[in-house]
Parts: sequence; C-alpha cells; structure tokens
Amino acid sequence: MVGLGHDGEGVGRVNGFTLFVQGALPGEKVRVKVVKLKKQYGYAKLLDILEPSADRVDAPCPIYKQCGGCQLQHMSYEAQLRWKRQLVADNLERIGKLAVAGPGDAAREGILVHPTIGMDDPWRYRNKAQVPIGHGGPDMEGGLIAGFYAQGSHRIIDMEACLIQHEQNDDVVRAVKRVAGELGIRAYNEETGRGMLRHVVARYGFNTGEIMVVLITNGESIPHRDELVGLIREAVPGVTSICQNVNTQQTNVIFGDRTLVLWGRDVIYDTIGDIRFAISARSFYQVNPVQTEVLYRKALDFAALTGEEVVIDAYCGIGTISLFLAQRARNVYGVEIVGEAIDDARANAALNGIRNVQFETGAAEVVIPAWRQQGIAPDVIVVDPPRKGCDAALLETILEMRPERVVYVSCNPSTLARDLRMLEDGGYRTVEVQPVDMFPHTTHVECCSLLVRKD
Ligand code: SAH
Repeated sequence: MVGLGHDGEGVGRVNGFTLFVQGALPGEKVRVKVVKLKKQYGYAKLLDILEPSADRVDAPCPIYKQCGGCQLQHMSYEAQLRWKRQLVADNLERIGKLAVAGPGDAAREGILVHPTIGMDDPWRYRNKAQVPIGHGGPDMEGGLIAGFYAQGSHRIIDMEACLIQHEQNDDVVRAVKRVAGELGIRAYNEETGRGMLRHVVARYGFNTGEIMVVLITNGESIPHRDELVGLIREAVPGVTSICQNVNTQQTNVIFGDRTLVLWGRDVIYDTIGDIRFAISARSFYQVNPVQTEVLYRKALDFAALTGEEVVIDAYCGIGTISLFLAQRARNVYGVEIVGEAIDDARANAALNGIRNVQFETGAAEVVIPAWRQQGIAPDVIVVDPPRKGCDAALLETILEMRPERVVYVSCNPSTLARDLRMLEDGGYRTVEVQPVDMFPHTTHVECCSLLVRKD
C-alpha cells in the first residue's frame, strides 16, 4: 500500500494499477479481493494483512466497521495527525502550486505547514448527538432502538455508546429510548410516514454542564407527553432544557421549522474562552468545543490585533470568531447568509456586552463589496467558508480592499489551496498554515492560515 485517500481508504499498487482498499494502511502488504474494476483503477476488499504497518492499532469501537462515522480508528492517533498535516501540504503543492516548508526545515523557502495540533484525549469530544429512532422488531417488540444508519442504507442499527460522543449525550439518548419505549411511543417509519419519534438530539455545554434534549417528532401531539417529560427529567439529572421540534415532511433533513419548549429554557449556555453563547435547538455551534478554542486562538493570534483595527469576519455563523476578535479590535463587521444565525450572533454580542461589532445577513460576496462602497476599510479580513471555499467575487473584493492580513479558516484543504493560489496571484503571501484536529478518527481536517500583503 502506498498511501491513504481522502476518505481514509488505503491506496495500493499492483503492477502499476491502482486499487482502493478500505481498512488498509500505507506501508502494509495485504491480500485483497477485487470487487470493482474501472479503466484506471479499482476497488478491493481487505482479506488479510500480511505485513502490518507500525501505525496500525485495534479500533476500540465495537461498531467501527458497520457505522462509518469514523474512518481512521485503525490508525494510531499520532499517525492520524501526521497524515492530516501531509494531506494539507499535498493539497497546497498539487492544487495550489505552492511551495511548502517545515516542519523541521523552516530554512527552506515556502509556506510553513505546522504539525497538526491534536487533542490530549481524542475521545468523547463531541458536544452534540443527533440520533435516528426506530423499532427493534415489529409491534414494539424489542422496544425502541436509537443509533445510526448502516453504511449505504437507511436501516437503523442500535447503538449503546459512541466513543467520540460525550458520555452525557450517550446517557440522554439511552434514557429517551428507554422511557419512550416504556410509554409505547412509536418511532417514525420513513417508508410509511407514520409513527411519532424521528430523532433525538442531545446537546451538552462542556463548560457549563447544561444539557438540552430535543425530540424531533412527526406531528405536534406526542402521546403521554407530560409523563414522557417527567420521566426524562428523572432519567437525566441536570437536564436544563427539553424541546420538541416538529417535522412532518418526508425528508432526510432532521429539523422541521417549529420548535416548542416542553420544559425548562429554550437555550443552553456554553462558553468558549471568556465568551458566553446561548445555543438554541437548531443553532449551529462547533461540535468540538476544546479544539474550537484552540482554532479561534490561532485565528486571533494570526490577526495580530492591537485594539485599533477594523476587522471583517466573513461567513461568521453565530458570531463566534467575530466576538473573539472584537475584544482586541476597534470594530468588527460580521456577515453570514443564514438570518437565524445572525439573530443568534446579535443576541450573543448583547449577552457579552460587546458593542463594537455589527452583523449583517447576506452573501459575503455581495455584502462585503457593498461595505467597500460605503468606505469600510478593513485592516484584517477573516474568512471561514463552508467546504466549497470562498466565492471568487469575494476573493477579488479582498484583493481590492487590500487588508494587511487575511486569516483563512478552512475545513477543506483542496478549496483552501485553490483560494490561496488566487490570493497569492493577487499580491498576498501565505506565511503559515496551522492544521487543527477538530474531528479525531475521521478524515476531516481544519486549518487556520495567515496571509500578508506582499508590499
Ligand atoms: N465562523 C463560524 C461558522 C463557519 S461555517 C464558526 O466558526 O462557527 C460557514 C458559515 O458560512 C455557515 O454558517 C454558512 O451558513 C455560511 N455561508 C455559506 N455560504 C455563505 C455565503 N455565500 N456568504 C456568507 N455566509 C455563507
């Protein structure tokens, strides 16, 4: 095996022909069975490992193979971090045509790509679980099950514990499954569109200990509703919010439009650094709070603020990065396309008494050119786009605005590389890239990059 693909699959060569083998690691010699052949490459099933890699470990999760939520549990954590750094460096070189230096050869010309910052304890890191509910057997035999869809299907497999999920969320899901089953509440059936309980969403504030339970239901009137709420309160000590979200559409989308509070508050609070956030049932909030703080501190560090700067935060979500920056800047302008997120961002600014930040709803590539027309001249622009990267029109506007620094937070190294190329061609130099492991045991990697104007 010669490498590891984007999805964590082993890449092997047989007489110059490429085979993708799920579960195989670079450096290994394996026996496989070819299952699918194309002209240039094929897919094969791993049968035996003849010479294992030194990076191979036993995946601790008993359902690792069926679930598909994690892709790298069979690789040591150290090796995962090294692979993530290499993936970023390879993308910068291949797609961005950028020279990469370091670690260890900082003397070389090129972008310094640092070693990935990992977690001290890379397990149980998620603060949110969203779990589909089903039946163990026909007519409530076997009660309710809650877990994940078997790979490539919509068959629900029951799960007692998820090793990347905070224990508290596992407890909530188990409790709801048990008490709703005892009350005879039926799970929703995707094919018939009947049954009540679709999903359970559990959220946990790592720094406050607050717990939210959201029941996503196919209709408003849950049978035995008050009993259910009472039993959840008993089974989940410390719960602060129990909500219901109604979704009657036959769709894969989890949440519907209407959220009701069944008991307690409509939000839970959590903190990142010194900043407090109110999180409602449907709000976007980073799922790994420990590494989020690491990432945001890096972004703040790269922005090198003195208190005098005007800063733009593009793709600001609920204003997390904006509020972080605002403590050290003169003014921060945040823009985000989802109106509800901007409502949350404004509420979060007020909650923290932060007044030097303004939020606007709209596409970054439309709103920021309008700000330019109004004479807003940023010293620093931070972008944190979705996987598809920045819109070209936004990159052009950045080049016209000529901020001293650009901080690019990215969840996709390939679009990052493409966008860095465009900024480099327009007069910026990429100084350093810091990969941060927000999603241990999966193939995802987040990066924070610093660009400075060349002149
Ligand atoms: N910076 C935030 C959110 C980043 S996720 C945080 O760290 O929490 C990317 C965000 O970009 C999402 O909230 C998404 O709704 C938003 N988005 C997607 N396309 C956009 C566009 N064209 N203009 C502005 N925001 C956009």
